[in-house]
Amino acid sequence: MGGEGHFSDGKTAARHQVDVLLDATGLRITSDAAEITKHWPYSAMRAIDPPREGTPFRLTSQADPDARLALSDPGVVRELRQRAPQLFQTGLGRPNVRRNAGIIILVLLALGLFLWQGLPRISAPLARLIPMEWEYDLGLKFRGRLLSGAGICTGEPGTAALSRLTNRLIAAMEAPPPLTVVVADRDMVNAFALPGGHIVVLRGLLEKAGGPDEVAAVLAHEIGHVSERHPTQMAIRVLGIGMIADLLTGDGSTIVEAISELGGALLLLSYSRDMEHQADAAGRALLRQAELSTDAMANFFNRMRKAAPAASGNSLAGYFSSHPPLAARIASEDETAARRPAALDASSWRALRKICG
Ligand SMILES: [Zn+2]
Repeated sequence: MGGEGHFSDGKTAARHQVDVLLDATGLRITSDAAEITKHWPYSAMRAIDPPREGTPFRLTSQADPDARLALSDPGVVRELRQRAPQLFQTGLGRPNVRRNAGIIILVLLALGLFLWQGLPRISAPLARLIPMEWEYDLGLKFRGRLLSGAGICTGEPGTAALSRLTNRLIAAMEAPPPLTVVVADRDMVNAFALPGGHIVVLRGLLEKAGGPDEVAAVLAHEIGHVSERHPTQMAIRVLGIGMIADLLTGDGSTIVEAISELGGALLLLSYSRDMEHQADAAGRALLRQAELSTDAMANFFNRMRKAAPAASGNSLAGYFSSHPPLAARIASEDETAARRPAALDASSWRALRKICG
């Protein structure tokens, strides 16, 4: 579903006519003439004023806080209302008002639970109480730190292929979490999930994967971590609830900076064995629902192990060094794997591998 809109980047006075396309995860804003290609996740968008009949609906995104998008096409606005109902709420129903009141209640609740039970035990129930949309910015900051300057790859056909693959996995989920899946331009073989539904696949993993099914298996596993709220649980364990509240309400950049310097950002990725098994089970269920091979992860691992037997222990260095117990599972459960259609057709797979140019 798509239409037209008007976009200004907030840096110049220019107002550009753009094409707007609503996909599963956000708004794609493009203009060939003005060389604009943007993707605004629904969860990061904010309404500038409450929507009113007869006036263009103006929006911004936390990804581009200065930019403005005005939508006058009623069809596009209607579709947006379905995909991102939170943008159309007013007064007390608005996420920000609810969010601040909610955070105060959460902190009080957490404090009580903490005094009673201790932090590790409350992190799982607490993580489920925090709406994932609240964590979008926090995850974005950690993503920036963990990638330390590595670019996000935005090759157009590759991005489309990545959305196709992600959508194929989440299409069968009853209540899919809001996801922002990106490929980062680093040659390590790794992928990880962060608070707020951010999933990062490093270019090296795409290059070493034997086919789209192996990438699908890794994605399914990371979506499993997101659905189980593991990134949030880890953030609560590493940072404590007070700091989480600061990060969710305020800017929090300095805290993220300090944590990153102490290696805390990497700690976010060191899941417990139990968490890995949960994500493994959730990922496999997802692959089965999407009618994809459940053997691909083990195939990938076995090939990597043959190629480089001594994997480094650095958690950003190798996916399989942080996932040995599950990845070592012998590939043979899925007897029909060879007859299943691949997760992506050949041209989409080529496009995905070239997403970083
Ligand atoms: Zn994992």
